[in-house]
Amino acid sequence: MPELVVIPHPKGRVSGAGDDLGQSLLLFPCNYCERTYRTKHSLDEHRAKHEGRTTCPICMRVQSTVSHLRNHLRIVHEQDVPQRKRRTKFFI
Ligand SMILES: [Zn+2]
Ligand SMILES: [Zn+2]
Repeated sequence: MPELVVIPHPKGRVSGAGDDLGQSLLLFPCNYCERTYRTKHSLDEHRAKHEGRTTCPICMRVQSTVSHLRNHLRIVHEQDVPQRKRRTKFFI
């Protein structure tokens, strides 16, 4: 999926431009905490953590992303994870 967000400065602050347009960037805020993400994908990965979708059901370790959890299960516990959900989409 192409991302149409163009962000010239990673910090969101353009020095010398006299801008108060910190909000002009297209950001995806997490509704569980204060974090914001530039892409829906990274927000989604982050929110999976809040929703417990990255917690290993076997050793209860929290992974940073769902795909990390999948790798973790495969490598650490030698579990084959069914990939039924290819794409999960969330709409805010
Ligand atoms: Zn959050
Ligand atoms: Zn585990």
